[in-house]
Amino acid sequence: MSTAILRVAVPTPVRRSFDYLVPQAIDASKILPGMRVRIPFGRKTRIGIVLARVTHSELELQRLKSVVEVLDQHPLLPAESLRLLDWSSQYYHHPIGEVVHAALPAPLRRGGTARLPSLRRWRLTPAGAGVGLEAVLRAPRQAELLRLIQSDPGGVTREQLKKLSGSWRGALNALVSKGWVEVTEDTPTQAQVAIVPQTWKPNTAQAAAIDSVCTSRSKGFQVYLLEGVTGSGKTEVYLGLIENFAIQGQQALLLIPEIGLTPQMVARLRKRLRLPVAVVHSGLSDHERLQSWLMARDGHASVVIGTRSAVLVPLKRLGIVIVDEEHDISYKQQDGFRYSARDLAIVRARQASVPVVLGSATPSLESLHNVASNRYRHLLLPQRAQGASTPDITIIDVRRRRMEDDLSDELLEWMESCIARGEQALLFLNRRGYAPTVMCHGCGWVADCGRCDAHMVYHHSAGRLCCHHCGSEHPVFTACPECGATHLRTLGVGTQRVAQSLSKHFPHARIARVDRDSTRRKGAMQAVLDGIHSGSIDILVGTQMLAKGHHFPNVTMVGVLDADSGLFGADFRACERMAQLIVQVAGRAGRADRPGRVVLQTHHPNHPMLRVLIERGYRLFADAALMEREEATFPPCACLALLRAEAPSREANIMFLEEARTLASSAMDGDMSVLGPVPAPMERRAGRYRAHLLVQSRQRATLHRLLGQWIPALEASRSGRRVRWSLDIDPQEML
Ligand code: ADP
Ligand code: ZN
Ligand code: ZN
Repeated sequence: MSTAILRVAVPTPVRRSFDYLVPQAIDASKILPGMRVRIPFGRKTRIGIVLARVTHSELELQRLKSVVEVLDQHPLLPAESLRLLDWSSQYYHHPIGEVVHAALPAPLRRGGTARLPSLRRWRLTPAGAGVGLEAVLRAPRQAELLRLIQSDPGGVTREQLKKLSGSWRGALNALVSKGWVEVTEDTPTQAQVAIVPQTWKPNTAQAAAIDSVCTSRSKGFQVYLLEGVTGSGKTEVYLGLIENFAIQGQQALLLIPEIGLTPQMVARLRKRLRLPVAVVHSGLSDHERLQSWLMARDGHASVVIGTRSAVLVPLKRLGIVIVDEEHDISYKQQDGFRYSARDLAIVRARQASVPVVLGSATPSLESLHNVASNRYRHLLLPQRAQGASTPDITIIDVRRRRMEDDLSDELLEWMESCIARGEQALLFLNRRGYAPTVMCHGCGWVADCGRCDAHMVYHHSAGRLCCHHCGSEHPVFTACPECGATHLRTLGVGTQRVAQSLSKHFPHARIARVDRDSTRRKGAMQAVLDGIHSGSIDILVGTQMLAKGHHFPNVTMVGVLDADSGLFGADFRACERMAQLIVQVAGRAGRADRPGRVVLQTHHPNHPMLRVLIERGYRLFADAALMEREEATFPPCACLALLRAEAPSREANIMFLEEARTLASSAMDGDMSVLGPVPAPMERRAGRYRAHLLVQSRQRATLHRLLGQWIPALEASRSGRRVRWSLDIDPQEML
C-alpha cells in the first residue's frame, strides 16, 4: 500500500505548498482537495487547505509531519475554485497559501463550521399579537423584548437580540412558554426566481446587446465589451442579462468598483427582479460575509454583487460574469496579493466556459486593444437612454487669469447662472483637506512630513496638518519652526478651502462637500446623495468619489478645477485616467430636458491629448493614446512586471535591485528589457525608502518564463534579505 500524502496550502509568505502525512487513525481516502486540515507548522498548528492527494513527495517520508485533524467532511472549496486560485497564484507569482486564504471568509479561516448561521427568528404568535405591554408590567426585560418583537412582523434574529444590552435569554424563554412568541427556522432553499412584471422595454441597442450575449450562451466563453456613455442604459442591460440567466437557473456574478455603490445597485435589482441576492464587500460583519459566501457557493443566491474580492467567491451554478466600470483602478489590489479582479473575472469565465461582460463609458485601453484585435466582442450603446444629449465641454484658459482659491471668474459665472436657473452645480477637485500645505512668509519654510517625501496637508476644521501618505499629524503651527515668524500662509487649495470660498461667492447657496473626510461618518454619504436628489443642495464640491456611478439628474454644470494634473503625471497611465475622469464627471451632468455643461480649467488649453478628447471624443483619444503606448512599448502593447523594494536605507534597495537586474539580464530574451533601478515617485514613505525595477516584454509567455527563473534567484539572494521586496504583475500604479 502506498503512503497517502497531502499537498496543503498554508497561509505563509512562502511560494510553495507543503506535504503532510495522513495518520493511521484517519481514512485517507475520505480526504478530498478543498477540505481544511489542521497541521503542525513551526511550533504551532495552522489551518491549511488540501490541494491534492499524492503518493510521492520530494522530501523523504521520515521528514514529513502528520496532519493533526481534518476539519471538513466535504470540500469547503469546490474544484473550480481551486483551479482559479492555482491559476492566480501562478500568474501573480504569489504564495498559494495566501491566495487560498484570501478566498475564505474570516470565520472559515479560523476553522469555523461551514454551515449557514442559524436563520432562526422569534416572532409573535396570534395569541401574542393581542398582548398589551401592561401584561408584563412587572417584567421590564420581557416588556422590552415584546416591544422589539412586535415591531417586526417577520420576527427578530439572534443578531438583533445580541444588540440588546444584558442577558435576554431568560425573558425570551418566558415569552415563549407563555405562548406569545414562537421560534421559526428558515432553511435557505434553491433560489426562487420571480420576475416583477415590467413596463420597461429595452431600446434597440440594449435589446441587441442582451440578445448577442444570450444567443451565444451555448458557445461558452466569450468576452464582451459593453461600451456606452453614462446614462445609456448599461445597468439595465446587466439586469436584463441577470434575469435571462436566472430564469435558466444560473447565477450571475456582478462586480462593482466601489462599496458605496452597493445600495443603489441592490435597490435597482430588487425593484426589477425578485431574486435572492448575496452581497460581498469589506463592510460586512464576519457573520454576514459567511452567509453571503455560503449562499453563493451553494447556489442559493441568483446574483452575487460585490467589490474586488467577490471575484474569488465560489458559485455553484455560475452562468455569467459582469464587471461594471471595468476601467476602474480599484479592481486592482494594491498590496499583498496584487490581483486584478477584472482580469480574474475573465479567467474565471474562461475556466467556467461562460460569457463575461465588461461595461464602461470609458473602457480601459487594454479592453479597447482586445476589441481591435478581435479577442473581445464589442457591444455599443450609442445614446443616452432617455434621449439626453451628451454635455458640451468648455475650456477655460486660466493662464495669467485672476484666480481666487483656484476659481476663475468665468467658472464662477457659469456656476452663478446654473444656480439662478434652480439647477445644481458640481465642482470636482482631486485634493481633500483645506490646503496642500503651509509655508512661512518670512523664510520660505514648508511644512513637510518628516517620514515621507510629501507635504503636510492643512485641515482647517481639525486645526491640524496631516500627511495623506503615512497618517502623521501635527497641530497647526502658530509660528515658523525655522525663523519664528508668525506669518504662515497656506499654499494651494483643497476641497475644504474651495467650499469655504464658494460660500463667500454664493452666500445663499447650500453647499455640500464630498471627500474621504466628510463621508467618514456612517450615513454621511447617503445624506448628501439624498440632499442632491431632493434638491436641498445647490453646489456639490468633491473628489473623485463623485465621479463614480452616481446619477445626479438635476446637476447641469460640472466644473473641473485642475485638468492639468493628469496631463503631466509621473505615471504613463496618468493621461488615460484624466480622460476617463473628465468623461465620467461629465456623465454626471444633464438629462433629457436640460443638457449639461462641463467647464475645464487648464493652463494647457492646446495640449494635444486634451484637444483630441474634447473635440473628437473618448474613442479617438483612446486611439491616439494607444499609438503612444505602442511606441513606448507600454501596456496594452507590452506586459510589465514591477519589482518593488523598500528599506530603511536607499543603498539597500539599490544593491538588491542592481543584483536583481544582473540576475534578470542573464536569463532574458531579445524583446525584453529591464528599466531601472529608479527611486519610486515618492521615494520615502512612512520613514522607508522605496525604489523599483521594471521588466518589460512584448510577449506574456516570455515574461512569465523569466519570472519563473528569476524569483527563486531573488529569494536566494543575500541582498534581498536586507529589503522588503514584492512583485507586481500588470502594475497599475508606479507609486
Ligand atoms: P448607465 O448604467 O449606462 O449609466 P442606466 O442603466 O443607469 O445607464 O440608465 C440611465 C437611466 O435611463 C436610468 O434612469 C434608467 O432607468 C433609464 N433607462 C435605461 N434604459 C431605458 C429604456 N430602455 N427605456 C427607458 N428608460 C431607460
Ligand atoms: Zn520662517
Ligand atoms: Zn507622511
